Amino acid sequence: MSDSSITIYTSLARFPAISREILPLLARLGIRRAVDLLFYFPRSYEQPAPLQSASQFTENARVSFVATVQEIDERVTQSGKHMLGAQVAEQGGAAVRLLWFNQPFRRNELRPGQRLLATGILKSTGLNWEVVQPQVQLLSGEEAMSDRRPLPIYSLTDGLKQPTMRSIMRQVIPQLRDQVDEVLPETLRHRMGVTDIATALRDIHFPASNQCAERASRRFKLQELLVLQLAISWQRQEREGRARAPRCEPTGKIHSRILNRLKYQLTADQMRAIEDIGRDMSREIPMNRLLQGDVGSGKTLVAQYAMLLCVAHGCQATLMAPTEVLARQHAKGLTESLASSRVRVSILTGSMPAAERRQVLSQVALGEVDLLVGTHALLSSDLSFQRLGLAIVDEQHKFGVMQRAKLRVDASQPHYLVLSATPIPRTIAMTAFGDLDVSTIRTKPPGRAPVHTYVTSRENLKGWWRFVEEQITAGRQAYVIAPRVVESADNNEIASAEGVFAQLTTELLPHRRIGLLHGRLTGPEKEKVLEQFVAADLDVLVATTVVEVGIDVPNATVMTILDANRLGLSQLHQLRGRASRGSHTGYVCAVATSGSEASDSARLEAFAKCDDGFELAEMDLKLRGPGDLLGTSQSGLPPLRIANLIEDAELVALAQQIAREILSHDAQLQSPDLEKLKQQTIRRYGQSMQLSDVG
Ligand code: ADP
Ligand code: MG
Repeated sequence: MSDSSITIYTSLARFPAISREILPLLARLGIRRAVDLLFYFPRSYEQPAPLQSASQFTENARVSFVATVQEIDERVTQSGKHMLGAQVAEQGGAAVRLLWFNQPFRRNELRPGQRLLATGILKSTGLNWEVVQPQVQLLSGEEAMSDRRPLPIYSLTDGLKQPTMRSIMRQVIPQLRDQVDEVLPETLRHRMGVTDIATALRDIHFPASNQCAERASRRFKLQELLVLQLAISWQRQEREGRARAPRCEPTGKIHSRILNRLKYQLTADQMRAIEDIGRDMSREIPMNRLLQGDVGSGKTLVAQYAMLLCVAHGCQATLMAPTEVLARQHAKGLTESLASSRVRVSILTGSMPAAERRQVLSQVALGEVDLLVGTHALLSSDLSFQRLGLAIVDEQHKFGVMQRAKLRVDASQPHYLVLSATPIPRTIAMTAFGDLDVSTIRTKPPGRAPVHTYVTSRENLKGWWRFVEEQITAGRQAYVIAPRVVESADNNEIASAEGVFAQLTTELLPHRRIGLLHGRLTGPEKEKVLEQFVAADLDVLVATTVVEVGIDVPNATVMTILDANRLGLSQLHQLRGRASRGSHTGYVCAVATSGSEASDSARLEAFAKCDDGFELAEMDLKLRGPGDLLGTSQSGLPPLRIANLIEDAELVALAQQIAREILSHDAQLQSPDLEKLKQQTIRRYGQSMQLSDVG
């Protein structure tokens, strides 16, 4: 294998040490070339067993011990397995029997007198000890045992075993690790406190100690995060250098005129948020801000302020909402605030008749519409603004990253504001959204009626339905949430909206007016049901989680969430937010699936106890990862191999700091020292160093 034409990009098929049968298995793991192998890092390490002598042995302990082979025997068991036995004398003199099944090749390794280091789990046979399928390392002469290191554990696939993988790694790594490009120049390595790449590659696969492995993994994480941060900081630098958004300064006069138009006096937190926004929008550099605040914290008013500020400066503003109902609600709110003003509000949705749609598009293009509210329809390519100054995305997690990005990509580089009901950790905000600034609303507006949350199981629902009935009699309305639309053949433990609807109408609440809402209805069908519910022509709305965002029916204060354990905490909290809108006390009952896990009940109890969306989101983040927070599809998170944005937050911060330092000295990464780093960043994030799909 001293073939000098072999490089890290050589196909593994050319490595004689790797057998043909193994190649497709490696390919299944995405490993085709030597470099893929080098960067296929262990998922963890097997710790060496403690080295013991017989006097320390205990049943079921995993230990290593030094022994000498005395006798070997071989036979075929009744079930047809090959069995190899070795009687060995442990160093202290105790007799141990080693047993292997179906490993006839070991016969050649073992002969009487051979010293070895055996590792395995001890079983007592009454008279002496036995170890089945031990690992052994042959010791030659009187040599000290070779050092007992942690062994890498790789994620593998059927048919590929750890020892095979380790042996492949052992062959390939030493040969090629020196050929891997060092992207971090010496000064940077020093600044980060990390080793060179060749050492790090050796140590991440075959560390001498756990600390060694830790150090190596820190290097790869930092490198990965630095590349990411360079792309992000570069992108921000470019955006700020190039883009020109309209200056919309909240002068004293404009400011108080807008405040007068808002429906309520702003809370202190809302006030702080509009100050942040006002400061951002006074500059030509486009605002790039996240406004986060729990459900019902009053983000809409802040968004209205920003839109009116924009309009006051003669620019258009647009707001995208995830549902038609919500878009209409926003349009209505804006229209009300703007009564008797010259500001023109319009709406654009997917279900609009073509003629009406054409008219709106033309008005927007001519600047005859100042505020345009809409759904995904706002992303259509035939929409163009005369002078767009501000784009807002409400309930950001309902949109994919492409959609969020598209709204802001307008020739005019508008200011940009995203609203979120779940807090997004800083490390995520800056990666998934290209470095957002954050404003937070912590306290809710005053005068909110409380909401009570109960947890129960399906078996115990009788009393609850009676309570729902009473509340309806008292004039309230109720939601019943079921995760699925229809009954599924494989699991009828899970409630379906249709099943529950049938049960309620025939059995549980037969005299009440009940509606059904789910994603399989057509747009107009959905609208109709919702309108009926808003108008209180329905007492009960059975729905899937589509009601999670948007609808605001203050009189609907009772909510039953079936199979609540299947939903994330943030999602549950969003749902609960629907039932605590008005001045009547809200009642939410979270119902666990029959036979659900103890951990599920613990989660639901936590949900019942905690009414703070931020706390719940943090719990979610720990339990379920960031995918839920950022939306179901296309979260916009960069694909990281080794670093983790949540767990390695500290390294993310360090990488960010270093990236900024680097760019502040060398904005175009022109130093020859940084060439390799620059190339890697471009390879990963594209020519313009943009996170591939964040506009
Ligand atoms: P979210 O942050 O979930 O979008 P909304 O903006 O819909 O919350 O506000 C929730 C409710 O609080 C609305 O009914 C709204 O009118 C009311 N609200 C918002 N701000 C204030 C305020 N400063 N004082 C009183 N009520 C307010
Ligand atoms: Mg809202």
